[in-house]
Amino acid sequence: METILFLAHTEIDGSLGKAALETLTAARSLATGLAGSRLIAGLVGGDAQAAADQIAGCGATRFLGVSGAEFTQSRYATDIVAVEALARAAAATIVLAPATSRWNRVLAGAAQRLGGRIDAHATGVSAADGTLRLTRWYYRQRMEAVVQRTRRPWFILLESGDAEPYAGAAGFATVETIPVALPAPRTQVAGVRAPPADEQTIRPDARLLFVAGAGWTKSQPDGKAHADEAEKIIREFLQRTKASLGSTKSLVDLSGEGHAVLKFMTHLNQVGQTGSTPRHPKGLSTCCHGEEPHTVGWRFINERRAINLNPNCSWAQGKADVLYVADAFAVMRKVNALLAAQQH
Ligand SMILES: Cc1cc2nc3c(=O)[nH]c(=O)nc-3n(C[C@H](O)[C@H](O)[C@H](O)COP(=O)(O)OP(=O)(O)OC[C@H]3O[C@@H](n4cnc5c(N)ncnc54)[C@H](O)[C@@H]3O)c2cc1C
Repeated sequence: METILFLAHTEIDGSLGKAALETLTAARSLATGLAGSRLIAGLVGGDAQAAADQIAGCGATRFLGVSGAEFTQSRYATDIVAVEALARAAAATIVLAPATSRWNRVLAGAAQRLGGRIDAHATGVSAADGTLRLTRWYYRQRMEAVVQRTRRPWFILLESGDAEPYAGAAGFATVETIPVALPAPRTQVAGVRAPPADEQTIRPDARLLFVAGAGWTKSQPDGKAHADEAEKIIREFLQRTKASLGSTKSLVDLSGEGHAVLKFMTHLNQVGQTGSTPRHPKGLSTCCHGEEPHTVGWRFINERRAINLNPNCSWAQGKADVLYVADAFAVMRKVNALLAAQQH
C-alpha cells in the first residue's frame, strides 16, 4: 500500500505547467494500478490555491500546500524545506515529481534528508503485480532498465513527454497549509535574465528538430566556405518555423575554437552521445554525416529526414526515413522561399 505524493511547483503565473500536469497523469494511473494506495497532491508556490483548484478533480485525497512569496522562485534553501515538509506531512512512500530544472536541483537533497532514495530521468512509471516499476535509460539511451525499490520514501523525477497532461475540469480544492520553518535567507533572487524568445533556439515543445552539421562550414563545390550565408539560411528557417535547433559535436566544437561559424550555436545545442536526446515528432538533419555518436541522440525523434551531398553518408545506412542527396544550401534556400510565400 503506497501513499503517492504528486509534488509540483507553480509557474510564475501561479498555474501548474505542462510537465507537472503530465506527471499528475502518471501519478493518477499509478494510484489506480497500485491497489490500496492513495494519491496526495503537494504544491509549492506563491499561492498554492490556484494550482490546487486547477487540478481539483484529480482524485487526490488531500491537497497540501506550501505558499508564500519565498516560494515563487526556485531557490534550494527554501525549496528543500518545502519539499521535506510536504513529504513528511503526507507520510509519502512515493514522491512523484516532474523533472523540471527547479525540482532536479533539490529533490536529491530532500531524499537524503528523509532517508529515502531517488531516481532521476525516469521515462515511465507503471504498476505491475502490485509493485511500482520505473523505466529509465542508461548508457546514453542505449539500454532501457526497469527499476524496483523496496526503500521508502522513493523520490522519482519524471521526464516530460511521457504522459498526456492532465486536463480535468477545474474546481475548488481545500488546501491544507503546511507550515515550514524557513532558514535565515542567504540567497536573494534578483530576477531572471533570459535571451529574447527569438534567440532561444532550444525549443523542447517544437514539432521539428532541425540539426545543423559541420558541413555548413566546410568548403563547398565552388571551393569556398559560406558560413555567413549558412547562418542566414538557418536563422531564417528557425524564425519561420520555430523549429528547435540541434547540432553535431563537430559544429559546436568549431564555434568553441573561435572559428567563424554559427554564432547562435552553443554546446547546449549538441545532440548525441555526449549531448542531448531531445524528443520531437520530426527531425531534419542537414550537412551532418549521421555517425552513431550523433544519431544515438535521435532515439526519440519519430520521423527522420536528412540532406547530405554524400549518398553513402551514415544516414543512408538505415538511420533516416528519407535521405535527400542534395546541396543543403540549395534545398534550404528553396524551403525558406516557399515558407516566405506561404506566410505572406
Ligand atoms: C566519445 C565520442 C562522443 C561523441 N559524441 C557526439 C555527440 O554527442 N554528438 C555528435 O554530434 N557527435 C559526437 N561525436 C562525434 C561524431 O562521431 C562525429 O564526429 C560528428 O557527429 C560529426 O559531425 P558532422 O556530421 O557535423 O561532421 P562531418 O563528419 O564533418 O560531416 C559533414 C557532412 O556534411 C556534408 N556536407 C557538406 N556540405 C554539404 C552540403 N552543401 N549539403 C549537404 N551536405 C553537405 C558532408 O557530406 C558530410 O557528410 C562523438 C565522438 C566520440 C568519439
